Amino acid sequence: MSAVSKIDTQRNNDMKKINTLLLFVLSMSVASAQDTLTPAQMIVDHRQYSLNLRIEGDTLRVSGFYLIPYETYTRQPIKVDTAYSLPLADYRTADGAIVLRREGNWYPHRNGELLTAQVHIEADDYYILGGTEWLPSFDIHLVLLPKDQYACKVIDTPTRPFYFYRLASDTTQYPEAYYREFVDSYNFYCSFFGDSLSSKPMNIVEIGDPQFVMCQSLRDMIIFGHYFYDVYTMIPDFSWIPHEVAHQWWGDGIFFEYRDYALSESLNEYIKLQYLKSRGRGYEEQMEYYKAMMERAEKSLPIADIHSVESQDESIAIYHAAPYRLTLENTTTVNTTLQQLYSKYKHTVVSRDMFLKECKTLQDWLKSK
Ligand SMILES: [Zn+2]
Repeated sequence: MSAVSKIDTQRNNDMKKINTLLLFVLSMSVASAQDTLTPAQMIVDHRQYSLNLRIEGDTLRVSGFYLIPYETYTRQPIKVDTAYSLPLADYRTADGAIVLRREGNWYPHRNGELLTAQVHIEADDYYILGGTEWLPSFDIHLVLLPKDQYACKVIDTPTRPFYFYRLASDTTQYPEAYYREFVDSYNFYCSFFGDSLSSKPMNIVEIGDPQFVMCQSLRDMIIFGHYFYDVYTMIPDFSWIPHEVAHQWWGDGIFFEYRDYALSESLNEYIKLQYLKSRGRGYEEQMEYYKAMMERAEKSLPIADIHSVESQDESIAIYHAAPYRLTLENTTTVNTTLQQLYSKYKHTVVSRDMFLKECKTLQDWLKSK
């Protein structure tokens, strides 16, 4: 990596702005032309987007089109051209990285079928992490890391290469165990779900800006602030890493309707427990910790009713009590149920109704508190 240049001190602490990029990109479009498609172009059977992104100084220029399946009056799909600009300062972290990502579990879909998008990016001075093929439209997350600030460590594995990005100026020696945690948990879930996902690089992105205190698993990318490395060093045996890696399948491979924390988070945490159990380290301690957390709750909440994890009791019910209780069931049955659901519904959005229909054995668990 080249020498570290002056760190861009321009920052915007409004994390909400960073969080809302995707909605912004997809909804703030200014239609500049409107064409009705010819029958030959009508093969597009659901909404699609194609966007070109180009960086000019501190501005991101976006142009492209999206397709709407049919128009009410003409009954034909409509192509809408779009062109607009975004001020990059709103999305830049203090170390010069640009983070545009989707927020939460928001999946645009029609009857479970996802909208798709293609993004082409021109940004020579940056490592570009983001999709360049047809992907679910909510997955147009985009992270640009300045090449003169960030270093990339590559670890090759038989499944796919892992690219670990972090600030070049951070010379802390990270232990091998830290890197292995990503790779080992990835390999476990590959066989748990019978799906290795992709042979393209898996990007592990540590943002150097100390104000960046979020952690999220996006398709082919796990992004987090340096704070999370410190958290790892405190509790390496049951860290956040295998939780985020499991989301590559459970949340980024199969999707759950908006803010269904029981399906997306409790079950993901349960799947993580299976990894801890299989490697024979951290499982007992993790279960003990869940138990201690459960005792801290002021009241037990029915997990099926939880639509936010803002309060301590809600958070405990979703992240600790629910996975803990599920491990008391016949885990072979639970594992098989989840594996079958994944195989059948991957790349689609699963609603609560669909889940209950497919996973009858988990109905009581979902109602419990
Ligand atoms: Zn999670």
